[in-house]
Amino acid sequence: MDYIDPHIHMVSRTTDDYETLAKMGCVALSEPAFWAGFDRGSAESFRDYFRQLTEFEPKRAAQFGIQHFTWLCINAKEAENVSLSREVIAMIPEFLAAPNVLGIGEIGLNKNTRNESIIFLEHLDLAVKHSQQILIHTPHLEDKYQGTRMILDMLCGDSRIERHRVLVDHVEEHTVRPVLEAGFWAGMTLYPVTKCTPQRAADIIEMYGPERLMANSAGDWGPSKPTAVPDLILELRRRGHSESLIRRVVYDNPLEFFRQSRQFAFTPRSG
Ligand SMILES: [Zn+2]
Repeated sequence: MDYIDPHIHMVSRTTDDYETLAKMGCVALSEPAFWAGFDRGSAESFRDYFRQLTEFEPKRAAQFGIQHFTWLCINAKEAENVSLSREVIAMIPEFLAAPNVLGIGEIGLNKNTRNESIIFLEHLDLAVKHSQQILIHTPHLEDKYQGTRMILDMLCGDSRIERHRVLVDHVEEHTVRPVLEAGFWAGMTLYPVTKCTPQRAADIIEMYGPERLMANSAGDWGPSKPTAVPDLILELRRRGHSESLIRRVVYDNPLEFFRQSRQFAFTPRSG
């Protein structure tokens, strides 16, 4: 089955991974900007990273027939450095016209600090002013519930935000309901450690239905499985779900969400 991975960090994966994804049915993916595993030293370092995301990765993906899209920001872990964050935010508009940019992301909170909130709000303002879609990272483990609440409060406190153009990622059983009820899209991250397993994601789909729900692998530097979305497809088939329901979660929904971005130009596979 053709599928789309809406959240995967290909800069941290090999070219062999692109080949494997293509063989598993991946036709498009989106790569949010994230932490490099270490704090970057300057705004220029982000400029290089944004060039990698907008120039190099799309070419690497295209070799295997995969369309590569991306999101730009400074991540929450580095938002503690407010002056660096502001320099990066000021530079982002230079890249917004690149053909594979879908919006601002993954912004959010990590340890739910005051500086993280300040920079989150400044990213929201940037997105609104440039009419960009938004992709949001919610914190992990013990910080998740509180962080998700704080994020939803900030989003809902800004009447300029169009909720159907915001994806809140890494939802779990205890955070998916408020995200969907407020009118946002929700992403489940399938991860071998922490986050959601394919079984738990299948349970969530059964409980809440497929509307505004998608699944991703978040493949990154840590232990993660870039082919986790096909694992969910298999789990849903094992449970007897229809091909149309599965396709909605792993293909139709990401397409419907991405299509709201002015720049999203997707060519479905022919035949
Ligand atoms: Zn991520």
